Amino acid sequence: MRIVMVGTGYVGLVSGACFADFGHDVTCVDKDAGKIAALLKGEIPIFEPGLDALVEKNARNGRLVFTTDLSSAVSRAEVVFIAVGTPSRRGDGHADLSYVYDATREIARNLTGYAVVVTKSTVPVGTGDEIERILREERPDLEVSVASNPEFLREGAAIPDFKRPDRIVVGCEDERAKEVMAEVYRPLYLNQAPLVFTRRRTSELIKYAANAFLATKIGFINEIADLCEATGANVQEVARGIGLDNRIGSKFLHAGPGYGGSCFPKDTLALIRTANDVGAPLSIVEAVVNANDKRKRAMARRVVAACGGDVRGKTIAILGLTFKPNTDDMREAPSIAIIQALQDAGAKIRAYDPEGSEQAKTMLAHVEYAANAYACLEGADAACLVTEWDEFRALDLDRVKALLASPVLV
Ligand code: NAD
Repeated sequence: MRIVMVGTGYVGLVSGACFADFGHDVTCVDKDAGKIAALLKGEIPIFEPGLDALVEKNARNGRLVFTTDLSSAVSRAEVVFIAVGTPSRRGDGHADLSYVYDATREIARNLTGYAVVVTKSTVPVGTGDEIERILREERPDLEVSVASNPEFLREGAAIPDFKRPDRIVVGCEDERAKEVMAEVYRPLYLNQAPLVFTRRRTSELIKYAANAFLATKIGFINEIADLCEATGANVQEVARGIGLDNRIGSKFLHAGPGYGGSCFPKDTLALIRTANDVGAPLSIVEAVVNANDKRKRAMARRVVAACGGDVRGKTIAILGLTFKPNTDDMREAPSIAIIQALQDAGAKIRAYDPEGSEQAKTMLAHVEYAANAYACLEGADAACLVTEWDEFRALDLDRVKALLASPVLV
């Protein structure tokens, strides 16, 4: 099938490369000319394990092409995915849909025949209806279907997640779109991946409900961790003890400094806003968001406490900056709030991250970056391990202790 991805970010690039690998002809479009120029030179603008090889292979075979020219790509497309960002709207926390609607108008202007326009971006319930309205208003002459196909991939494991998903969710309002989407996912369907067909609004809500539930699991175990600390219990063993129950499941039960990233914070907020607008408030999700916000700064207070109650003038070594391992994504990373709170308390920050330093430099001020973990620790008054990169599991703790000015590891 001839597929166009509008938006070549984390989701658009991974999805585009995987669809090409299924045998489809994929054009990835982005309005960021620098990003497309890099991709045309074979450079991958993000860090995602295995993505470079997958892009290189499919680009070489001619099944994956990159362009800034949306018009010619869309004019030949059978399926157009919208994979642009839907960040929090400044001021009110609703999803900012301006990129989605701008892309919709551009797509409308350039379609030449029947196509299915599919939202892969995470969009609030009802967005598909508005996309359909825009398409019909701009192009009353055209037959077009609008579908929802939310993406569940995890950064850091995006390719295996895309190729072996727990499920694929597709929301359609007509049979023709359903047939096209079944064809798009036929290679996965043949592999027995459950394909859940539903209506468009339900599909849109499934994505938000999934993220809110996962955020709730994290929020829950984090509060249980505090209770464990206060009572002498071990949260990892509690997590294992409850996670072995099939009704609960062991994933997303790792206590930590709070969730971050490009999805959970904005999606939980947007869901709360939608729910309030329609008079069906989500008090559990609201509690999760509040607890998570407080947790990030609370982590900094723990570091201060471990340093004897005062970090003014002290150097704190931060190991790990990205919101989770195996990505360079710094969006809403807990490290940002922790570092800012430590700086507010007068600490000097030296940081090391295996992949995230370049993005971190655009978000954090007055941070010294080290070339490796040991260099980061040398002479520091305390170390704070924020992101669980595998290489930190292998640190030689005797060497860590010898390098630190005082043996404090949080
Ligand atoms: P991103 O910011 O990495 O990429 C979006 C890209 O779209 C950018 O490169 C931007 O230049 C481009 N773009 C914006 N408007 C455009 C236009 N009109 N034409 C062409 N290109 C345009 O975002 P992302 O992380 O890939 O997320 C995209 C969507 O997928 C969001 O809604 C997000 O919530 C959702 N999502 C993300 C993940 C994830 O792990 N990152 C997972 C599931 C769902």
